[in-house]
This record gives sequence, C-alpha cells and structure tokens, in this order.
Amino acid sequence: MFLNPTTCSILILLFAGVCAATPAYKVGVGISDVTGPALDVNMMGYASFSQNSEGIHLRLFSRAFITCDLNETECNVFVSADIGMTSTLLKLKVIEELQKEYSGRYTEENVAISGTHTHSGPGGYFQYSLYTITAFGMKRSSIDAILEGIVQSIKNAHDNLQEGNILYNKGELLGANINRSPTAYLQNPQEERDKYKYDVDKDMTVLKFEDKDGSGLGAICWFPVHPVSMENTNKLISSDNKGYASYLFEKDMNPGSKMGQGSFVAAFPNSNHGDTTPHVNGTICIDTGKPCDVETSTCGGEVANCLGRGPGNDMYENTRMIGQRLYEKAKELYDAPGTPLNGPVSSIHQYVNMSNFRVTKGNETFTTCTPALGYSFAAGTTDGPGISSFSQGMTEGSPFWDGLVRSLFNDYEETQDCQQPKPVLLPVGDYLNTTNMPEAIKLIVNLVASDPMAPDIVETQLLRIGQFVIIPAPAEITTMSGRRMMDKVKEKLMDSGMSSNVVTMITSLSNTYTNYVTTFEEYRAQRYEGASTMYGPHTLDAYLQQYSMLAEKLAQGTGVENPGPDPPSKGLPVNLDLDSDAFPSGKSVGDVNQKVDAKYRQGSLAEAIFWSADPKRGSTKSLGTSFFSVEKLNGTNWNEIANDAAWDTKIFWRKEEKESRATVQWMIPEDAELGKYRFVHSGFWKRGAFSPVQSFQGPSGEFEVVSKDYLRPTSNN
Ligand code: ZN
Repeated sequence: MFLNPTTCSILILLFAGVCAATPAYKVGVGISDVTGPALDVNMMGYASFSQNSEGIHLRLFSRAFITCDLNETECNVFVSADIGMTSTLLKLKVIEELQKEYSGRYTEENVAISGTHTHSGPGGYFQYSLYTITAFGMKRSSIDAILEGIVQSIKNAHDNLQEGNILYNKGELLGANINRSPTAYLQNPQEERDKYKYDVDKDMTVLKFEDKDGSGLGAICWFPVHPVSMENTNKLISSDNKGYASYLFEKDMNPGSKMGQGSFVAAFPNSNHGDTTPHVNGTICIDTGKPCDVETSTCGGEVANCLGRGPGNDMYENTRMIGQRLYEKAKELYDAPGTPLNGPVSSIHQYVNMSNFRVTKGNETFTTCTPALGYSFAAGTTDGPGISSFSQGMTEGSPFWDGLVRSLFNDYEETQDCQQPKPVLLPVGDYLNTTNMPEAIKLIVNLVASDPMAPDIVETQLLRIGQFVIIPAPAEITTMSGRRMMDKVKEKLMDSGMSSNVVTMITSLSNTYTNYVTTFEEYRAQRYEGASTMYGPHTLDAYLQQYSMLAEKLAQGTGVENPGPDPPSKGLPVNLDLDSDAFPSGKSVGDVNQKVDAKYRQGSLAEAIFWSADPKRGSTKSLGTSFFSVEKLNGTNWNEIANDAAWDTKIFWRKEEKESRATVQWMIPEDAELGKYRFVHSGFWKRGAFSPVQSFQGPSGEFEVVSKDYLRPTSNN
C-alpha cells in the first residue's frame, strides 16, 4: 500500500511507531560545541563592562538542520546557536568555510544562522564596534570557537543527510513569557490588538525531523522569550532557559549519552521575542517592594531598582523552571501527530541598505534613517537595567548630552530629524567628527570605533520547506511587529500562488544583528525597544515591503533581480597569545589544590580545587571535549557520568598573576547511585610565551557518595 505522509500520520495515531511515511525530503541534523573562552571575555547581551566570563555552567552548542529535495538539487540550512545573536562577520566567515568544502551548495542565500539570544556567552565576534565596546574589540578566541562550531554542526548535519520527513505542530504554552513593555504594546491600534488574546505570542511551533522509518532525528521549537533568566551578575557561561530546554530534550532523546548531546538534536530558536521577558512574575521595586512606575520602569526615578522576577527565587531556579516548561511543551507537541510538510525546498536572499530604504505606504513615501539609538537605550530593561539618569519612555533629550553628541558626530541634526520622536543619544551610523580632537584621542577613536559603528547593509532572507516558510529576521522583533511580518509574508505567498495552508515563522536574531524592530506605533512610546529600533520609525514598514517582495519572488520561483549591496568584509584579528601558565614550586598543572571530602551525601555539593591553566589556552582546541568530568568506579573501570556541560556541574577559574586555580563542583543528584567517584580535570597549558600548547589531565582522588540518610558514626570512648 502506498502511504502518503498524511495517511501515515493518521495511521500513526492508530498504530504508533509502526508507520513509515514515504520520504518527502532529504534531512540531516547536526550539533557541535561553540562554548568559547571561559575566562576574562566579556559576555554578549547585557553590555556590562564587568560581566566577564569566569567559568562554565552550561555549555553552548550550534544545532544545524539541513533540508533538501529528494534529488538534492535544492537545499536549505537552518542553524540555531546558543549565542547572543549572529553577526555579519560570523555569517560571512561560515559561508567562506562552507564554500571550501561544498562549493556552491551551501551559500549565503540558503543558509540562515540564528542565535538563541543567551546573554551568558562570550562576545567580541562583531565587525561593528557598537557590539564590541564592552569586550574592548573583537576577540579571536571567541570568533574561532563559534565559527568552528557552527561550521562543524553543518558538516555533521550534511554527513547525516538521509531520506525522511518533517512534521509541523503548534500549541499554546502559558507561564513562560510576558510582555516587558506593555505600555508600548498598547500604542498599537485597538482593532489590531483585539485580534489577539495576549500581548505576547504564547504559541510554540515545532518542526519534527524524522528518518524514513519514522524515528526522530531532531526538532526545531520556536517560542518567543528572552533568554535572560540568568542575570547580568552571572559570570558563568550558560545557554540560559533555551539552552536548558535543549539540554533536557536531548538528554531525554539520547539515552545512554553522558550529557544528552548525541544524534538527536533539539533547537529552541527565538521568534517575535523583542518585547518579551521570562520574568513572569512581573516587575517590582527591589528596595521598597512596591510596583515600579509603569511608563518608565523606574523606582523613585531610578531604573536600577526596578527588576523583573520569577518564576523562581533566584536566577538558577528561574532558568531551570522556564527551560523545563519550554522542554515539556516541545516534547508534548513533538509526540503528538503533526502535519507533514510537502512541496519544494527553496530560498531567497537579498542585502539591503537599511539607512536609506524607500518605503511606499499608499500615496506617501518615507525613508529609513542612518542607524541611531535613543536615550531610552541607555536605560536598559527590567531584565537588565542600564545607566542611572536615563529611563524608558524618554521622548526628550537633555541639553548636556545633545550638545556633546552634536559636537562628536557629523550628521547629527539630519539623523535626529529623521529619527523623530526618538531623542538621539548615539548616532552610530554617522561618521565621527574628529577634526577638533587632539591627535592622541583621534588615534584611539580610530582604533576603537569601526566606520560605521553599526551596520547599514542588512541581510533579508526566506527559507521554504514545502508549505512552511522561515523568515530569518536581522534584529529582535517585537510581538506585534512579528505578527505583522508573518501575516504579510503569508498573504504575499498566497497571493503569489502558494496554497492557504502556508505557515510563516519569524526567527529573530538571524544573520545580521541590528538591535530591535518595533511597530511605528510602539516606536512613539520610546521604550527600550523603540529607542533601539535603529533605522527610525519606518523600520518595520521597510522590512514589510522588502519581505513582501521576497515572498512574491519565492512563491513564483523567480529569484531577486540583484543580490543587493555587499556588506563590508573584515579580516579577523591575529590570535596572538603570548601569555603562559605558572604554578607554585612543587606543583604542576592538574594537581589538587583542595582535596575532596571522603564522603558526600546524596543531594549535597561535592567540590575540589585544582592547579589549572587559563582555559583560553585551549578554547578552540577543546571543542567537543570538556574541562572536567565526574567519574564513577564500576569494578575496576572509571566511567564518566557527567561533565562540564551538565546542569549539576560548575567549573570556575580564579587567576592570580599567571597562577590559575579551577574549582569544580557537582551537585550530587538525590538519586545518584551510591559508590566511589572522582573528578578529572582536563585542559591545555603553556610553559612560556612561545612554548607549544600542551594538554593535561589530573584526577581529584576518590570520594564516596553515601545515602542522604547517612549518619556519621559516633565515637564510643
Ligand atoms: Zn534582546
């Protein structure tokens, strides 16, 4: 009997697990590590000078999904990486690497790379200085780790390419996101808001990838929520709530794998998450316990004390709870019968200059602006407050800052006019006026600031898998902006010949990063998201026009007339590591500095400290390996049962001069098997500036895990 995928999914209901659908596609999934430098590199997201990496809680991964038609004439690649966002630099370099290996097959047109938006990953991987200020420029160790990991994940997916199917499902998840700028949302027209039950999207959308026998290969699970459960005081690398959801899903689906990462790959990319927060208990003044001022998100005029909370009591609990909720909903939708995707695989792509994009609305024409950030950008959000004396909702500047900014930038007046009603604080697209600066200052400015500091040239793209169309968007898209984009693209696709069952899925933080996109109406409120909508009030309308054009051409299969202006390319900084590691006399790398206890009860914290080396030494060489493992003695063999990617483990470094010490911790699960255990610390080190990098490994000595009811024997003398 011939089974088409639809009959098959009905049959799956009746005979779970025995149905194999006719393969509709070639599919491949792959995963690889992108953790990067775990010490002394500024983290990307909160723009805090003091938030530099000190260790690892959860490792970061890149997850790749390749879909091709059965003849492999057309393919597209969707990548979701546990990083703050993708950058033009990363995208260009990834494509460069892919060209070397698969010339012409994976291109900037059919590869979309998106960041989950964790705020606890190493930064410094941008060519635009606006995004590397707090990292003090580009960081080669960070770039290498992310670049190599993304490319490797795509290679792994390519190597796994096989006949299979993709099924689509969608369902509501409550308790995992709320709107952090509800007053801006309220600016949208009443009749538009009336179409929706909530002021954030609550639907999770899942694509299930399976092989030709119906066995699961992986899943992409879109849900709009900021991965900012880990706060700006956190210094351990973490993939946050989204990464923890991946971790749980993969652990569940890869039994026998130590850390969960295995052949099954589950990604949790963001969608229209721009104005969402995972702090679902809302905001409160942490000093008084009273509600914050709603319009400005301040307490007594200050942004610092107005913070989002929940659902747990601290950032680890918040991460765990939101991650758990994301995973459970994803698994439920994954297990339920889905709608098979059917039809062509294709993609379309064009670079656009967003600084002067002409938008036609009815009989009127508008132009977007050179990129600029408003005063309220400096206020930050209730997920991570910014600088005191700024607040959200500022529609007027101050004479002091206005005067200063005017003197520093050439085209300030023009930009300010265009960006109305945003008071411009940072006209990052304008050229710096260095004429009156002293030579020394000029030199520093030219070194630190890229020209321009933020992108003009932005990637726009659509990926099609049958009736499912992914909209990779080069920014953080607010709830209503995303709804408008998904509706508009869907409408255009249908008008241009696609059937009415088409599904459109926005994916924020893809390819190029350009801060936020709000609706024209939300922009007027100048909350953080409006102040960060860089190309002015008509930014969204420009994208609606651009993506409509792409949708029409995608549906008709005609392709774009021209690829658009090339983004500026940029060389990578040299990776010059002249640093070295040292140890106190009589000690060498991997030696124990503080011993483990002889016994630990189930549910307690086991800890050891090792003489170690700067983890940056091996940050790119250690891809796929770990800095420490927990091993259990079985007979005469030590078996690894957990490593530094696990939720229950942490590793952090403390460095004094050239001497580094690594603390490793394992929160022993309540149900851990009783028996003998040890830690093994691994890494790379260097004796002198020009010495070769060498690997090392050192065990902690044994400890015993005893029952949680264990009582210390009392002495009887
Ligand atoms: Zn964000």
